[in-house]
Amino acid sequence: MKESHLPEEFINRLRDQLGDELGLFLKEHANPAPVSVRMNPFKLSKNFEKNELVPWATNAFYLPERISFTHDPLFHAGCYYVQEASSMFLEQALSIAFADKQKLRVLDLCAAPGGKSTHIASLLTEGSLLVSNEVISSRNKILQQNITKWGVANVVVTQNEPADFSKLEGFFDVIVVDAPCSGEGLFRKDPDAIDHWSIENVTRCVNRQQNILHEIYPALKEGGYLIYSTCTYEEQENEFRLKQMADEFNMLPVAIPFDVPGSVKSEFGTRFYPHKIKGEGFFLGMLQKSQAQHAIAISKPKSVKNTEFNLEPYLENSQNFISFIKNSEVYAFPVSVYPEIKVLLDKFFVRKAGIHIGALKGKDLIPSQELAMSIDSSKSIEKITISKEDAITYLSCDAINPVGIKKGWALIAFENFTLGWIKSLGNRSNNYYPKEWRILTKVK
Ligand code: SAM
Repeated sequence: MKESHLPEEFINRLRDQLGDELGLFLKEHANPAPVSVRMNPFKLSKNFEKNELVPWATNAFYLPERISFTHDPLFHAGCYYVQEASSMFLEQALSIAFADKQKLRVLDLCAAPGGKSTHIASLLTEGSLLVSNEVISSRNKILQQNITKWGVANVVVTQNEPADFSKLEGFFDVIVVDAPCSGEGLFRKDPDAIDHWSIENVTRCVNRQQNILHEIYPALKEGGYLIYSTCTYEEQENEFRLKQMADEFNMLPVAIPFDVPGSVKSEFGTRFYPHKIKGEGFFLGMLQKSQAQHAIAISKPKSVKNTEFNLEPYLENSQNFISFIKNSEVYAFPVSVYPEIKVLLDKFFVRKAGIHIGALKGKDLIPSQELAMSIDSSKSIEKITISKEDAITYLSCDAINPVGIKKGWALIAFENFTLGWIKSLGNRSNNYYPKEWRILTKVK
């Protein structure tokens, strides 16, 4: 990208920050953005393990160039997430917030498409819950798909306004606000964002961020952590927002000790610039709420039994789940977070919770895609491993006819990672891969 494509006003503001380094920034900005992926620790494949590591995240790698992720079945199996490397610095903030704690309630407030949520879900401590929220409906659908592919059961996807969370005063141990921002740090990945840049838009973003932070503050537990990030360079959208929260609510800035050479640290956060580290523009800071409030207590279920529906044929450790049936749809909720899920179902617009097992039709159950992608699905379910070519055909929702399989439902897998369902009728099979997920482009 040429300097001339960047708004003059933006370059002037950056010059104020970078001084003599502006030339280095613009030179690097003209190069393609690095490509990086973060592996799913619950579906660990080895495809990138020889690549260069992202130093500030676990199981994360740089790729020498962009590959066709659409035509990699492991991408569809949820084995990895394609994520910009700088934003993986979230892990260092989480390692402080999650230290020595067992059952945590974590909220990812601005979650779509799911980069931060899949990262949080990978690091959550045993018995914890992640509420992954996205207010915009079309973006929420993509979020649900990415959470489903990650395969974890202890995530609830909601579609609510930040202010709605004030119903849950003092509920969350950790709140992540990856705020909508002016997006300057992604200009080279998404040149269209340049056309939307203006000083007026920066001001609009600042106001929105201020409202979001104020609205979500009551839902944070005393002593809890607020992690705030953006992908922009504007001080008003970054350090100033956290300083204002610290001043107004007596919150304490939390230092993140992990040192990334080239990152720029201050009292209110860490900045990443593309000419100083291998990644895009990013800011992250963390505050702790002072000890002045009382968290809401949620009673534990005394003893929970799978009374409604026998989950055993579907889930590996079915005793850890409780079944729930609504409008002939069967769900399994982890017992450990069942009280929290009940509260959320009662007060919020829940788009996904636990594992959707399937739909009841008479005596039969039509198994769902969530069960196919779940890391908890039973090992006793028949699994058919297919070639890469057949996997692409299957993911395109075209017919595949694996030979020698029993009549009935079976999981389709590539390299042992499941992709979805097939139903064998004896002489032919029906492909149950979700039509809205199918691959639309052919392999070149
Ligand atoms: N955290 C995501 C990830 O890592 O994949 C990226 C989040 S993106 C930077 C910000 C998100 O905030 C968008 O999905 C956007 O729809 C959402 N958003 C926009 N306006 C909002 C508002 N007023 N309140 C809460 N979220 C909002």
